[in-house]
Amino acid sequence: MVRLLGRFVRCESPSHDKSSVDRMARLVAAEWRRRGAKVTTLLQKVRGNHVRAEVWLGAGRPAGQILILGHLDTVYPVGTLAKMPFRISGGRAWGPGTFDMKGGLVIALAAVDELRSTGLRPCKRLVFLWNSDEEIDSKSSRRFIEREARRSDAVLVLEPAYGPDGRLKTARKGVGTAEITVTGRAAHAGLDPEAGVNAIHELALQTARLMRMNDPHRGITVQVTVASGGTVSNVVPDSAKALVDLRISKLADAADLERKLRILRPVLKGARIQVTGRINRPPLERTPAVREMFLRAKALMSEIGLPLDECFAGGGSDGNFTGALGIPTLDGLGAVGDGAHSSREHVLIRSLPERAVLLAGLLSTL
Ligand SMILES: [Zn+2]
Repeated sequence: MVRLLGRFVRCESPSHDKSSVDRMARLVAAEWRRRGAKVTTLLQKVRGNHVRAEVWLGAGRPAGQILILGHLDTVYPVGTLAKMPFRISGGRAWGPGTFDMKGGLVIALAAVDELRSTGLRPCKRLVFLWNSDEEIDSKSSRRFIEREARRSDAVLVLEPAYGPDGRLKTARKGVGTAEITVTGRAAHAGLDPEAGVNAIHELALQTARLMRMNDPHRGITVQVTVASGGTVSNVVPDSAKALVDLRISKLADAADLERKLRILRPVLKGARIQVTGRINRPPLERTPAVREMFLRAKALMSEIGLPLDECFAGGGSDGNFTGALGIPTLDGLGAVGDGAHSSREHVLIRSLPERAVLLAGLLSTL
């Protein structure tokens, strides 16, 4: 598993670099073909290609379908490997994308190897969907994910596990981005300040309003995360803008939050504001069916003498799309590790076979 992980990590695959992600897609597709899967490459014009691998190990007709999700892309630009090479030390495998989530891609392959070598026969068709754009917005893959999810009885997501004890993610926040653009009026800051309308001042007033939309009890967070404005120090700025990170725990709160953003009006006389954006990943809610799947996973882990816990994750994944369709979705089944999207990214090597066994157990009993 470590050797395969090394090959995947050395194939750099930033979301925005089509030829690189396509190379990763070919590498992964070849591994699935070697295992007898029916592999389809979903060709994309702008984004990297997605890979669909179908595995049917049973006899006769499948009793349903299980969808397994993961992504081929990483957040690291080509060349990162030179500063952050794939390496093994202290029982860990380090490198860009080890944890998020090339470890998960390896776990899926090992789980299928495990099913074959033990002769376990899932009664359902297994569809593995590896997209190329999860780290940016999943815009080009969302429809494939949703189409497969609608045909599935359950969705398993191989995103990284949470924390050092490898928790599964049974709920995730919904995520969105808004952009607020403020237009004021420029004027000389010294000679004629009253003639101006300070766009940064307006943005600051709007920021204070936005911050008041936070509601920790309902799980609503609104954070102005990027702001810019102005030109030079002696001019009253006529423009400013900000990006706002939006998160909700309940789908029911999306419309209300979006409405609150739309009805924002300027405070300063002469200022204009425009707000765009919305919640684009719905929350993954912990339904009774999700809870039941988690308990199944926990029982499987206890058979091999390991504990398993669950958690609520603030970040979103493609599992949010499938959960919103009402398909029971269990997330965080990937590797245990730490440091996603940072120079400290790594996986615990011993977690790779443990997770492969867990996934094989779920695939053969769901
Ligand atoms: Zn990820």
